[in-house]
Amino acid sequence: MGMIYLDNAATSFPKPPVVAKAVANYITDCGANVNRGRYKTAYQAEESLYETRCLIRELLNAPDERGIILTGGATLSLNMLLKGLLKEGDHVLTSSMEHNAVMRPLEQLRDKGIVTYTTIPVSAQGKLLLEFLPGLLKPNTKAIVMTHASNVCGALFPVQEVGRFCREKGLYFILDAAQTAGLVKIDMEKMGVHAIAFPGHKAMMGPQGVGGFAVTKDIARSIDPLIAGGTGSISHTTDMPAFLPDKFEAGTPNLPGIMGLLAALTWLKMNDPGLFNSKDTEVAFDEGIKTEVFSVLGHELSLMERFLTGLQAAGISVAGPMHITDRVGVVSVKPPFQDPARIAGLLEEKYGILTRVGLHCAPEAHKSLGTWPEGTIRFSFGYFNTEEDVDYTLTALKELLHGNETT
Ligand code: PMP
Repeated sequence: MGMIYLDNAATSFPKPPVVAKAVANYITDCGANVNRGRYKTAYQAEESLYETRCLIRELLNAPDERGIILTGGATLSLNMLLKGLLKEGDHVLTSSMEHNAVMRPLEQLRDKGIVTYTTIPVSAQGKLLLEFLPGLLKPNTKAIVMTHASNVCGALFPVQEVGRFCREKGLYFILDAAQTAGLVKIDMEKMGVHAIAFPGHKAMMGPQGVGGFAVTKDIARSIDPLIAGGTGSISHTTDMPAFLPDKFEAGTPNLPGIMGLLAALTWLKMNDPGLFNSKDTEVAFDEGIKTEVFSVLGHELSLMERFLTGLQAAGISVAGPMHITDRVGVVSVKPPFQDPARIAGLLEEKYGILTRVGLHCAPEAHKSLGTWPEGTIRFSFGYFNTEEDVDYTLTALKELLHGNETT
C-alpha cells in the first residue's frame, strides 16, 4: 500500500528534490555564518540570504527586501509582530477563525492586562461578516490581525476590503498568510497590508524551521524587537540596531533552512512565475527558459473541486464555503454519527491516506463552524497530489462512511 499525503496544510510534502540538495550543499560545502566573517564562503552565504529576501519580496510585493525578516516560522513571526507592536491600552480586532498562533499571543497580552481584543464574527459557512466591522471599532483600536485563509475549512478572507477599511481608519493591518503564501497571489501594497507573517514550509515548499515576516517601514518603526542579540552590525553598542532587517534578526539564522527555502522559491518561480510580482514575464533558469503557464493554485483548486463534487454526490457534508473561488485546497469533513478520529485512523490504516484530525490548533474556528468540540477530518491538497489521489480518497471515504467496512 502506497501513501497518499493529504496534510499539506500542516506542512507540504514531498518537497521538490532541489530543497534537500540545497540544505545538504550548504552544510557540506559552505557552512559559513552571515554578516560576521570576511571570507569567500561567508559572502556566498550572504548573497544567498539576500536572494531569498528578494524572491520573498517579489512573491508578496513587499515594499523593500530589507523589510523581509527571516525567522523560525509563522508562529514566531506573529509573536514578534503582536508583542512588539501592541502597547498598554491598545485594542485589536481579529476574526473568529484564527489559528492559535494569533489567538494565544493575543490571549497572553490580554491576561497581562496590556491589550483588549474583539473578534469579527464569521458565519457557519466560514464567511467573514464584514458588516460588523465598523461597529467593533474603538477609539484605541490599533490594528486588525487576521488570517488570509482558514487552516480549518479553507475559506479565503476578503483581504482587500479589510485593507481598505484599515487605510480609512488609520489602523495597522497584520496578515497571517500561513495558508496562502506560495499559493495565492499576494500583493501587500494592493491589499493594504502593513505586516505579513509566513511559514517557509507550507506552500512556499521550503524546510521546516524557517519562515518570516514582511513589514512596511511605517509599521517596522512601531514594532519593538522581541528578540535581542548579536547581529554582526554596530557591535560597538549594546543597543539593537534600528535599521532593517537587523532590528528583527538577532542571532545566527537557520542557514540550512534558508538555503532550502531559496531553492524552493526558485523552483516555485520556475513552475508558477505568475505567482510572483515580477517585472519579467519569462524566467531564465539553468534548464533554459520556461514560459508555459502553470498555476499551483489552479492545480489545487481543480483537485479540491473534484473532491467537493464527489463528497456532495456521496452526501458527505463539508465545513465552510462550497464555491471554489472562496477557498483554498483545505477541506474539512465532519462524519455524521461517527468519531472523526476513528475514521482518520482507518483512512491511514486501511488505505494509507494521511490527514489531520481534531481541532487543527484553531478552537475558535471550529466553534464558528459548528464543528466544536469533536473537530473534523481535514484533507489538504498540495502541488504533488493527483486526480487519482482524489478519486481513491473519495472511494475510501464512501466505504468507511456508508459502506460495508467492518473493524
Ligand atoms: N496560522 C495558520 C492559519 C496556520 O495554519 C499555521 C500552521 N498550521 C500557523 C499560523 C503557524 O505556522 P507555523 O506552525 O509554521 O509556525
